[in-house]
Amino acid sequence: MLILKDMQLGLYIHIPFCKSKCPYCDFYSLPIEPKEDLYLQALYREIEIWADFFEKNYSPLKISFKTLYVGGGTPSLMSPLFYEKLIQKISKHFDCFFEELTLEANPESLTLDKAKGYRAIGFNRISLGIQTFQPKGLKFLKRGHNVEDSFKAIENIVKANFENFSLDYIYGWFGQGVKSLKKDLERALEINPPHLSFYELTLYPKTPFYEKYTLKANFLRDDRLIQLSKIIRDTLQSSGYRHYEISNFSKKGFECKHNLGYWKVEPYLGLGPGAVSRLGNLRFQNIEDLEVYYQALLKKNKPAYLILENLDNKEIVKEKIFMGLRMSEGVNLLELSALGYEIKREALFYLKKEKLIDFDEESLFLSEKGSFLHNQVVKFLWEHLERKK
Ligand code: SF4
Repeated sequence: MLILKDMQLGLYIHIPFCKSKCPYCDFYSLPIEPKEDLYLQALYREIEIWADFFEKNYSPLKISFKTLYVGGGTPSLMSPLFYEKLIQKISKHFDCFFEELTLEANPESLTLDKAKGYRAIGFNRISLGIQTFQPKGLKFLKRGHNVEDSFKAIENIVKANFENFSLDYIYGWFGQGVKSLKKDLERALEINPPHLSFYELTLYPKTPFYEKYTLKANFLRDDRLIQLSKIIRDTLQSSGYRHYEISNFSKKGFECKHNLGYWKVEPYLGLGPGAVSRLGNLRFQNIEDLEVYYQALLKKNKPAYLILENLDNKEIVKEKIFMGLRMSEGVNLLELSALGYEIKREALFYLKKEKLIDFDEESLFLSEKGSFLHNQVVKFLWEHLERKK
């Protein structure tokens, strides 16, 4: 039997369809037309299997969901009716107390009818992947939308009465300079959304961009990226946005509740091919193959997940350090201690002396300087973990 203290989970649903495949993307998605009914049948079956799993392992305790996040792929390719049926099915098997229901959208597929439909069935947050307002950036990223599509989609979000929405940018693309980044920031401030994400363009192995650019000198140099990220942070902070996570900024009260659950290493359930679930010390991942996913669920009547890892306390502590240092509120040291681990005091004082972190008895967080060296600080702290005496 699994042990979970908190029975309220985040729920993630993966939509593995896109119009075309962007050359930098390593999310599991296929450039095919979605078959809504077929995909719905598979998700229904997956929901029933998880409901049985919880019944067997947790009864009489009940599992409930507190946030819903639909990501992809391109969730805005699916109709509002698809999500209406899906939410009905989830509510039939689980208690749902959704405080936040987010749908990721791409500008070219977010029509006014769809935006209104999503709002009508309960979605209260849209995360819109505009990437950049610079035509040369959209061309480089080979996106399926243009600048006008982005403006139209934002207008649709506002007309459909979404008070909470995020504009999601990518920075660090080839050809982007300080001037074009500042133009993107100006646009963001004119639109004044409650939430903004700025993700650094990363070259993931097995993507066309990785093959093409990974060996090129002067592409995405670290000092250049640090310069751009400083401009992003300074501009948004001085305009009233809280830098609450390395890549995320929000007005007060508009932080993404679902994603905060990931960063705090709270339990969540993921549905759809490639989706990951985290329950106590277990991590599951569904097969990253739509056909195999369909076969497992619809023909063999079996779960499509593999148990990826059974984490011990040390691994959970390492994950909490990695994730916690992404957030402005930092790592909760008391949680590490409750799991039987602590970071050597001399390591903490060394990093503080180097102005990379700050800490007190309860929490540990990155300084401004440290926020540009997240991975290096994490590695150092991992090397100085010890069992509590
Ligand atoms: S639209 Fe998004 S999920 Fe689809 S290929 Fe492009 S980056 Fe990946």
